Amino acid sequence: MNINSTTKIIGLLGHPVKHSFSPNIHNYLFEKYSQDNIYCCFDVEEEKIKEGIEGIKSLGIKGCNVTIPHKVNIITYLDNIDNKARLIGAVNTIKNENGILNGYNTDGLGFVKSILDKGYDLKNKKIMIIGAGGACRSIAIELASIDVSSIDIRNRSINKANEIVDIIKNNFNTKILCSPKSIDEKDLNNIDILINTTPIGMESDLSPVDEKLTPSKNILVCDIVYKPHNTALIKWAKKNGLEVIHGIDMLINQALHAFYIWTGINPSKDDEEHIKDLYNKTIEK
Ligand code: NAP
Repeated sequence: MNINSTTKIIGLLGHPVKHSFSPNIHNYLFEKYSQDNIYCCFDVEEEKIKEGIEGIKSLGIKGCNVTIPHKVNIITYLDNIDNKARLIGAVNTIKNENGILNGYNTDGLGFVKSILDKGYDLKNKKIMIIGAGGACRSIAIELASIDVSSIDIRNRSINKANEIVDIIKNNFNTKILCSPKSIDEKDLNNIDILINTTPIGMESDLSPVDEKLTPSKNILVCDIVYKPHNTALIKWAKKNGLEVIHGIDMLINQALHAFYIWTGINPSKDDEEHIKDLYNKTIEK
């Protein structure tokens, strides 16, 4: 990578950021596609986000990814928000166009692509999502926009789940419901796809589903937690002969879409494979 006086910075705004895999993805792609950019991580505390945004403008930073805890609050400081990101209520990608900051959300798109790429169909499928935070919002809205049959959200705080239900009811035709109930075998035998969007299992051996449950239907189990690679939920699913999708697939796909927003380039399948190899080498399984 030849860094010189014309090189532009694209960054990650978050707190913490030191474990991020995004620099590995984007710096590989910038080099591969001869983009005169470099990707850096900025550890910005919650109360410093306004100054962080001013820094993007004053330093001519070309774009940013946004992660915990800024995805929602950052909206106040941006000039334009894309329609889907506004519906989701969160931004994970910013593009600086001549000092105008435009906000997008690529999380839901990245998740859906990770399912479609593996050859699964989503149309008319019954979905259950555990959790009702930012990631659930983007995934549920993306799924609703492609006409899945139904979405059932399970979250310990019902208010947050209700907010998502209202957004979907007001904007889409997909059947949507929510409950604070934990998942039982009857639930599992009545759905096609189960998605964990809570951090349960992140750097721990906890599962958001009771590991004693043994579903009799072959559902697809997706965990968006990507560290560890094989979360307790994924291990439970495999033990029960269920098909799985790992969190790394969503992570890579949301990044590829952000790369497209910044550069207009759609990375190839080979790039995805190369990034997965990088991930396998750098992230503890
Ligand atoms: P968030 O906005 O903080 O939401 C987390 C949700 O999980 C909330 O609904 C919360 O419930 C629930 N939750 C948290 N701890 C729980 C527990 N111990 N028991 C039951 N429920 C619990 O977070 P987020 O932005 O949606 O991210 C969630 C996870 O997804 C994180 O681990 C993040 O790293 C991962 N993620 C992965 C990708 C990817 O590309 N693979 C992308 C985005 C996020 P309450 O509503 O009751 O608080």
